[in-house]
Amino acid sequence: MDKNQNMFIELIEEIESRILANGKIDKQEAAVLLDLPYNLLVKLSAAADRIRINFLGNKFDSCSLINAKSGLCSEDCAFCAQSAKHRGASEIYDLKSTEEILGAARTAKAFGASRFCTVTSGGALSDQDFDKLIEALHTVKSEVDIALDASLGFLNEDRAAKLFGVGVTRYNHNLESSRDYYPSVCSTHSYESRVKTVKLVKSKGASACCGGIIGLGESPSQRMDLAFTLADLGVDCVPINILNPRPGTPLQNARPPEPMEIIKTIALFRLVLPSATIKIAGGRERNLGDFQAMALRSGANGMIIGGYLTTGGRSVEDDLRMVRQAGFDISHMC
Ligand code: SF4
Repeated sequence: MDKNQNMFIELIEEIESRILANGKIDKQEAAVLLDLPYNLLVKLSAAADRIRINFLGNKFDSCSLINAKSGLCSEDCAFCAQSAKHRGASEIYDLKSTEEILGAARTAKAFGASRFCTVTSGGALSDQDFDKLIEALHTVKSEVDIALDASLGFLNEDRAAKLFGVGVTRYNHNLESSRDYYPSVCSTHSYESRVKTVKLVKSKGASACCGGIIGLGESPSQRMDLAFTLADLGVDCVPINILNPRPGTPLQNARPPEPMEIIKTIALFRLVLPSATIKIAGGRERNLGDFQAMALRSGANGMIIGGYLTTGGRSVEDDLRMVRQAGFDISHMC
């Protein structure tokens, strides 16, 4: 083994020991590990896996989504088929009824999801729709034994109080990418406005679910900037989506990262966020293919199951079989 390879191995060992003793990786070290040759990726994956086991054991977080209001969004996120500014081919419909949302929650519970997340398109719902949704979530809470998440765009104090008051315990609001790359992703709102919503969620004592998408054209070091920003914010759950280029969006011809690059990113996120739930999310089937199980042994401990907002997923049975085979205990969900 050459000197350079030994340097990487020693660095991984040193960082792992430090994190297991409640220390941290710094930005310079993460930058060095971005250049890790792929023949040493297994070393990084194993370290990330041991860190995950140390802080989180074998508990698994499986979240099922309902897209409760789809399309016609006035924002222009470059990856998103729901923006009215693109020619994306997403479905368009108004807020679903209480019965539809309740039915989806029952289905999620029946197939074994630990959490049920209600998602709506757009920067924020109208007051009328928001109140309608609160009533629906109240019904779900009283009838289905499942943890409730929501992802409804920007929040304010009043809406946060209503949501967390009705029994929602986790709120999703992704930062998508690094602060300096974000203007290339979206021009209709600022990164800071997203950070503000995440901080509000944290200030209410709720669980903050906040991650991003890799493959938007950002550099590997910008991915790490996102990871360190999420660590600074103290987020609890980090969905890592991998671009699934949607027809009609500005990124329809973008080339998502290769599986080994995705695995490296997930492992490095685990080093930066040792005790957060890290979920492999949208785009995992298309971009990781047969390497999804490797992602689960490289620091990830959660998945979105049962399909995504504008695309389907693979079967829940196949996913849960993979999760069990990867050594997780799905009867002990996060
Ligand atoms: S990601 Fe959300 S805010 Fe952005 S265009 Fe899509 S639905 Fe709108």
